[in-house]
Amino acid sequence: MALADKFNELHKAKARKTDFCPYQYMYDSLTPENQKALDEAWAKGFSANLVLSALRSEGIKSSNEAIRLHFKGLCKCPKK
Ligand SMILES: [Zn+2]
Repeated sequence: MALADKFNELHKAKARKTDFCPYQYMYDSLTPENQKALDEAWAKGFSANLVLSALRSEGIKSSNEAIRLHFKGLCKCPKK
């Protein structure tokens, strides 16, 4: 990837971070099957740490902080 494209990509990612909920953004990027699996993981009461390590093993990035803010309703979710 050209450096100019990389700058644009990073800039967009940064803008997204301040405007949107990182958890919701990550969730929206998942396949429908993975969204279902994630919903089920929360429904089963799995811990954030367990969910995060499972996501990470699939190459999906999220963070404890993003999850905490989202579920406490302190995130910038447009869906609230
Ligand atoms: Zn959120």
